Amino acid sequence: MALRAAVFDLVGVLTQPSVTSFWDRAEEELALPRGFLSKAFLKGGPDGPSTRVMKGEITFSQWVPFMEEDCRKCSKDSGICLPENFSIKQIFEKVLSARKINYPMLQAAVTLKQKGFTTCILTNNWLDDSAERGSMAQVLCELKPHFDFLIESSQIGMVKPDPQIYKFVLDTLKTSPSEVVFLDNFETNLQPAREMGMVTIFVRDIDAALKELEKVTGVQLLQTAVPQPISCDPSTVTHGYVPIKPGVRLHFVELGSGPVVCLCHGFPESWFSWRYQIPALAQAGFRVLAVDMKGYGESSAPPEIEEYSLEVLSKDMITFLDKLGIAQAVFIGHDWGGMLVWTIALFHPERVRAVASLNTPFMPSNPKVSSMEIIKANPAFNYQLYFQEPGVAEAELEKNLSRTFKSFFRSSDETFITVSRVCEMGGLLVNTPEEPTLSKMVTEEDIQFYVQEFKKSGFRGPLNWYRNMDTNWEWGCKGSGRKILIPALMVTAEKDFVLTPELSKHMEDWVHGYKGVKFQNWARTYGCCPEMYFQPTSVEEVKEVLALARQQNKRVKVVGGGHSPSDIACTDGFMIHMGKMNRILKVDTEKKQVTMEAGILLADLNHQLDKHGLALSNLGAVSDVTAGGVIGSGTHNTGIKHGILATQVVALTLLTADGTILECSESSNAEVFQAARVHLGCLGVILTVTLQCVPQFHLQETTFPSTLKEVLDNLDSHLKKSEYFRFLWFPHSENVSVIYQDHTNKVAMGIFPISPHCPAPRAPNTYYHPDDR
Ligand SMILES: Cc1cc2nc3c(=O)[nH]c(=O)nc-3n(C[C@H](O)[C@H](O)[C@H](O)COP(=O)(O)OP(=O)(O)OC[C@H]3O[C@@H](n4cnc5c(N)ncnc54)[C@H](O)[C@@H]3O)c2cc1C
Repeated sequence: MALRAAVFDLVGVLTQPSVTSFWDRAEEELALPRGFLSKAFLKGGPDGPSTRVMKGEITFSQWVPFMEEDCRKCSKDSGICLPENFSIKQIFEKVLSARKINYPMLQAAVTLKQKGFTTCILTNNWLDDSAERGSMAQVLCELKPHFDFLIESSQIGMVKPDPQIYKFVLDTLKTSPSEVVFLDNFETNLQPAREMGMVTIFVRDIDAALKELEKVTGVQLLQTAVPQPISCDPSTVTHGYVPIKPGVRLHFVELGSGPVVCLCHGFPESWFSWRYQIPALAQAGFRVLAVDMKGYGESSAPPEIEEYSLEVLSKDMITFLDKLGIAQAVFIGHDWGGMLVWTIALFHPERVRAVASLNTPFMPSNPKVSSMEIIKANPAFNYQLYFQEPGVAEAELEKNLSRTFKSFFRSSDETFITVSRVCEMGGLLVNTPEEPTLSKMVTEEDIQFYVQEFKKSGFRGPLNWYRNMDTNWEWGCKGSGRKILIPALMVTAEKDFVLTPELSKHMEDWVHGYKGVKFQNWARTYGCCPEMYFQPTSVEEVKEVLALARQQNKRVKVVGGGHSPSDIACTDGFMIHMGKMNRILKVDTEKKQVTMEAGILLADLNHQLDKHGLALSNLGAVSDVTAGGVIGSGTHNTGIKHGILATQVVALTLLTADGTILECSESSNAEVFQAARVHLGCLGVILTVTLQCVPQFHLQETTFPSTLKEVLDNLDSHLKKSEYFRFLWFPHSENVSVIYQDHTNKVAMGIFPISPHCPAPRAPNTYYHPDDR
């Protein structure tokens, strides 16, 4: 008979390490003979305390003194002394705190369930009233939703290897023994099951056990794609309703405990759009409230357009919190839900613990251009114009709900809805098939869920969200100039999300963390996808990023101009871009020193120095690089009398990983100063740099041809002849172009950088006369 049920032991199979391996280690540490602890554990046999604790007749805390007594007896019998610090409680606490879910085994169980197997956890456990009891609750809470059944010895009063527990399992699973495969890490537990006719797998080595499981079930379990995360079942999840005002209620789904996370979906969706995130967030320790937004599903759908302005909707959400007695929540929104959560953060910041938006960046109202004008000017928003006339889009989208949702819910490579020219075409679904295929993103059951929900609510409410453009804009203008200072995150599903200058301008003003941003160095030879990307504007904000990184155990990399040709600025952790910390802080014309924030581009610095009659004595080939970056990588130029750029640094401030600010110079934190002058980005965040300048000067450039041999033979002489000597060699030939650059008093005609490498006119602090070439 084919197998159709899989039963998994818990400790040692679904979680690691096994109790026995832990005991082996404890015995080694305490210099006890091998097998000592398991012998003591089994002392007393079927009527002993260990069987009783596993049957749930006594609790863990009641069992501990019995076990300690049995250990003492065993030690006496074997003529050994227990160490003074011997404590069963401590040994078990260690076992429990080391326990981790065995994910390859869990994935195999999930795959079998997806393939139609009935799955079950069968564990000998105890009623845990120890201080560590939360760890067991946590593990079971994570595992339980993946299985059809959980059978605990302490709850049913039967233990493995008593045959009656296997009969109980078969009754529960409604299977015959030959239909069951059972995995356990105790041979004694497997034997009776095998004798009854079950297929058994002894789990010692996880890989070997998985191979065997794959073989006996005929289901591919190894090298499979990562299974989808667990989803929420609308019929078993908890539903709640909050009256907002007479005739208006909000429906939500709730899971988990901890800080509140409020999920706000987009158009045309449902709380159900968060079905995968809800269990994951609950598992991560949050109380999740996934709301049917106003107009959707089981929430009220008043017909009036003004009920759906961002002002009214955000006030509704505040009432929602009030009625549930929640002072603050993390608001996460997608699409229109994203627009809403930005608005809540802007107008009700005290109620928002943190805010995140998926795919919708915050676009603050521009008092000079109305939102409607922006929409009219952008063909990609044409569908929004089509949505304006009440009744029109409703008729089209409600006509065949299955077609509507199969057309909407498609991944980017399957999409066929076009959002431009919708008014001209006379509809959004005009070019979509009457019977669209099912996208790989959803199941037929998923689509049917949305169909049922929209049969109840219709499209009027959801479309009304689009019909408050002017009202939203006017209200948004009231928040003009405000900044969201609470933790904020913009998440994009687009892998290659690039901030357009317009978007980035808005976003930089309003948001200080992004997810999904891709970084590439100047030459595009190296890139990375930092987990979070920050553009702080102040030391306080940099400190906040470091605090967050410490809290989440993340590595931080700072990037300057991104010109390093290596991957030195790349990270998959947190990336801080210093571009907004770019001010000149002090110019001391007497000492000819300038202090600046480290994110300043040398191009901008040069302009500023020009105003004070100052210049850097030497520069690299380009000036779109930052003060922090050039000193970090030992950027250099040429000239025998000149050191690398870092030698011009007279002081700097360094923010170290623990949040301390170090003022560094020859006289203060001198050793750190020396190291930080070529910091390679690994000492902390360089906040400010003080550079020694020189009076502004002009350069005269002389270029002449030569050969490689001549230049190398006379290198010393060339180096002495010109302050900034360099030569360019044309590979595969003997030809060399020699360039001398030297101070001159002649009148400046052009604006060129001091760097002899760079032909592009960028920095205004050095000049040459064209006649002198
Ligand atoms: C076209 C071109 C020409 C070049 N010419 C020359 C040249 O003539 N001579 C030469 O020597 N080099 C040259 N380089 C290399 C370039 O000068 C260096 O790579 C320099 O580091 C770039 O500065 P950046 O601001 O872009 O630094 P990035 O590349 O952004 O960063 C460099 C390092 O500094 C760290 N960092 C940056 N800012 C901070 C901060 N505030 N706090 C802590 N760490 C920080 C980064 O983590 C990274 O480790 C050139 C590069 C290019 C692309």
